[in-house]
Amino acid sequence: MKIAKIEQFFPRPRMRLVKITTDNGLVGWGESTLEGKPKSTMGAVDELSEYLVGKDPLLIEHHWQHIYRSAFFRGGAILMSALSGIDQALWDIAGKHYGVPIYKLLGGPVRDRVRVYAHWGIRDLSDEGKATAKERLDYLQKTGGYMAFKSGPAGKWRAHEPPARIDQFVEAAYTMREWVGPEVELCFDFHGKMTPALAIEICHEIKGMRPMFVEEPVPQENVDALKLVADHVPFPIATGERLLSRWEFRRLFEIQACAYIQPDGSHAGGISELKRIANMAEVYYMHIMPHCAIGPVALSACMHVDAAVPNFLIQESVGPDWLMDVAQPAWRVKDGYIELPTVPGLGIEVDEAEAAKMATYREELGGEHFYDDDGSVADW
Ligand SMILES: [Mg+2]
Repeated sequence: MKIAKIEQFFPRPRMRLVKITTDNGLVGWGESTLEGKPKSTMGAVDELSEYLVGKDPLLIEHHWQHIYRSAFFRGGAILMSALSGIDQALWDIAGKHYGVPIYKLLGGPVRDRVRVYAHWGIRDLSDEGKATAKERLDYLQKTGGYMAFKSGPAGKWRAHEPPARIDQFVEAAYTMREWVGPEVELCFDFHGKMTPALAIEICHEIKGMRPMFVEEPVPQENVDALKLVADHVPFPIATGERLLSRWEFRRLFEIQACAYIQPDGSHAGGISELKRIANMAEVYYMHIMPHCAIGPVALSACMHVDAAVPNFLIQESVGPDWLMDVAQPAWRVKDGYIELPTVPGLGIEVDEAEAAKMATYREELGGEHFYDDDGSVADW
């Protein structure tokens, strides 16, 4: 069996798909979305296609090593996202070739279902804002029975903010707890836009509503700053969606900088590298909660690893039908869990007519530029 063709699709903002077809007609899908960089990963996949066409698709590890090492410069978000999409598609082909779901090729499932959370929160405390939030909560609970939700402090945050600004977020967090009760987990993504001092201050303000974790309290580059936050906060701290490959997680592990890690199956190096990062994390008693704010192809890729590693805690998803008009998974969310699919490969059917409707680069890039009141660049 040889790789015959590699195609790419860009059907929606935040959704780039890689399709690998073999000379005997097997098709593998992967997701190589790199948010906010619509053209870059597609260019990288194009370059890598020249190497892959004509090769045996089952030599997944060999191709991973070639792509990662052979062009001298290693890593980085563009190469690693391209590699991730290709790796997922190769695993999809392997599953279909052997007639089993991918998790069976990763050592077999260690659980029957995969716990998942959805994006939900109160971002606006006006009556209107609360009504919208309530509607979304009812929808998520009714459609998927979700028992865990993630939100975050909206907008721009300077190095410090006056009490009114902080109190607004704190009030929203406590209101969320009041609405969902003590059986439900609530977590907050600070999106790497705080300083360590401000993150610690806000975490202390919300500790009484018992969050499951706070994510990316500070940006990802300095894990010592992350450890400073974790050491001063009495509940779990998480990070990792912007750390790529085992090598970028290494120091975080060694200094035990946080409680949980969130590698992304479409950025960190695909199914292959997500599994290896999870296995490394096990040594440090850290659980994985794979990051996934993109489509169902990427979510399915994470789910196969979640099924096969012991130190898995919960899987991120945006919601029950996010981007599913393009790609339909062979699973649904029920009672807050994904039941493991039994179909071979990734378990994804892509609607190619939908996938072929190209989004515009401008659609993806629009609106994501943040500036403070003084005109300086802010994190979003
Ligand atoms: Mg995040």
